[in-house]
Amino acid sequence: MMAGAEAATESQASGSDDGAGGAGRKPDADAGPAKDKTSYDVVIIGGGPAGYTAGIYCSRGGYDTLLLSGILPGGQLVNTTDVENYPGFKSGIMGPDLMIDMREQCARMGTTILDHEVTNVDFRGSPLRVLTSNAEYEARAIIIATGATPKKLGLEGEQTFGGRGVSYCATCDGPFFRGQPIAVAGGGDTAMEEATFLTKFGTEVHLIHRRDELRASKAMQARAFANKKMVFHWDSEVTDIVGDENKVRRIVLRNNKTGAEDTLDVGALFVAIGHKPNTDLFEGQVELDAKKYVVLKGVGQNTSAKGVFAAGDVHDATYRQAVTAAGFGCMAALDADEYLSGDADAAGNAAD
Ligand code: NDP
Repeated sequence: MMAGAEAATESQASGSDDGAGGAGRKPDADAGPAKDKTSYDVVIIGGGPAGYTAGIYCSRGGYDTLLLSGILPGGQLVNTTDVENYPGFKSGIMGPDLMIDMREQCARMGTTILDHEVTNVDFRGSPLRVLTSNAEYEARAIIIATGATPKKLGLEGEQTFGGRGVSYCATCDGPFFRGQPIAVAGGGDTAMEEATFLTKFGTEVHLIHRRDELRASKAMQARAFANKKMVFHWDSEVTDIVGDENKVRRIVLRNNKTGAEDTLDVGALFVAIGHKPNTDLFEGQVELDAKKYVVLKGVGQNTSAKGVFAAGDVHDATYRQAVTAAGFGCMAALDADEYLSGDADAAGNAAD
């Protein structure tokens, strides 16, 4: 975070991969008591807000719970600086600190947390099985909380200016760019929604799309076209992000039909070109939709596999917020509790 007048505009979520930020705190590796144990009531896959919240509820509910967080625990929030919209922190909190606190709370409740990557799963029988490179685990219930990854343009500047003007979440970071021109890349519903939302804050919002027609629904297009703060750049791609040590200052555009280059002075670039749910592992194990999100079945967080629940961005392409992911983690844990209590029918498990 930078000091000075611009700092308030610069602390925001990013999709950078460096995991930097926070106050230099590091999560305790492999928290929990029983590292050589391989049989649990519940195994949670994923160490973001959904996974940790599910762990807190499962362990507090008396279930022997293992959380496999992957080798880079914390999910998208570890690539975030200030988080202003997670309730309970009146002055905001650094994303990595929030994740460390959730992890420590989860461990304190009794969840065994291992920073191991899941390499395979088998949900076809009972017990359910989860494989890592270190061990094979058995569980009576599984909670999938592996999240989704925002797609990137592939520009070096996305890494350089992550947290300093490049963002993948308008709801999270839009308010940091009040009074500045803002750019949004993408032509789908997310880009329209985010760009329209960003007109509340930006002096103007430049929508950069690689084709001459939008992919977004007609209704979303109509809203965007009607907004006087929107400026559309057709057949255009962002080729460079330029800034200084403080923040993004401008972006370079190239018209992919004429080859003409242009620069736009903007304080931020929001990349809204889609998300990839982290579900490769679950192909053939639980039902996925056409975009590879986990399909919820019946009521609550049930999936198509008996005893397997999902929570967070791995099934939710709509809200994608830390607080909603945490809420879904709570719901998945309560559904798992109901299932494990022998009331699978009441839990509405579609596989029954
Ligand atoms: P989409 O896949 O629908 O759209 C992605 C957009 O990004 C497309 O316009 C695509 O261009 C563009 N794009 C993809 N890759 C690149 C790239 N490398 N460089 C430049 N541009 C790129 O993703 P969304 O996130 O917009 O939507 C996902 C789903 O969620 C959709 O089904 C959508 O309808 C839904 N949704 C619904 C909302 C609502 O109803 N309120 C709100 C948000 C999302 P091109 O068109 O040329 O392929």
